[in-house]
Amino acid sequence: MDIEDTPVLDNHMHLDPIEGQNIDAVEDFESVGGTHLLVLNKPSWHLFDPASDEATFEEVFELTIEAAADASEVLPGRAWPVLGVHPGLISQLVDEGYTAAQARDIMQAGLDVAAEYVADGPALAIKSGRPHYDVSEDVWEASNAVMRHAFDLASEVGCAVQLHTEGSEGLTEITEWAQDEGLPPEQVVKHYSGGRLAGPIKSVIAEKDELEIAAELDEPFLMETDFIDDPDRPGAVLGPKTVPRRVRWMLEEGWEDAVRRAHVETPARVYGIDTEATLGR
Ligand SMILES: [Zn+2]
Repeated sequence: MDIEDTPVLDNHMHLDPIEGQNIDAVEDFESVGGTHLLVLNKPSWHLFDPASDEATFEEVFELTIEAAADASEVLPGRAWPVLGVHPGLISQLVDEGYTAAQARDIMQAGLDVAAEYVADGPALAIKSGRPHYDVSEDVWEASNAVMRHAFDLASEVGCAVQLHTEGSEGLTEITEWAQDEGLPPEQVVKHYSGGRLAGPIKSVIAEKDELEIAAELDEPFLMETDFIDDPDRPGAVLGPKTVPRRVRWMLEEGWEDAVRRAHVETPARVYGIDTEATLGR
């Protein structure tokens, strides 16, 4: 099998239509065999003051929806927006003088808006999580409450949640919380995962060592770059060509089954998307 015979999905890429490479990054991805993208909104404080009013979340989300629509124009497959609130926002808000509880309410309100975009059509999934760095007890509790709210919303509108969390190989406590809120564990995705993870579905960062682990385990997984599209941090993360290049390498290694798992089966199971039917090249 060769890369032209398979869909190639990057499960987590940011596009910044204002300051970033935006469509050039999508063209780079496509030029080496990429076909489908999940486009994440940038952490909202990059573009707007998140605390000024609730409409700012909408502005950020509208930009991402537009970026995904533009990306779909150049892809042989398509792109879908994933909208949410970066868990690091809580620290920004607390630094600005909000209490943890006030920050929680602002972030939950942002997730409510994201869920409306899922219910009304354009968005595929919600993004949430909790800080990956040490925080105070009240910020940690507030963050867990925000994440549980995301699970509740996702179960209501019937979508998956992508999580940003601390690095870990075991997050079954989180999938139990999701289940408590009515969301099946296989609709919980840990973004920026290593190759081994108990609990959520892993979205493995496209590094060879981690992909090798994931390929050899008989478990669902996705692949991503977390391309940040930030002109101030060139090379801070993997570039937009990385997932297709790694797929090429995996096919050379003979891991056809793993490629199918990451680019056809797991996307269908987690998001209900059909990367084969939506591929028209
Ligand atoms: Zn990201």
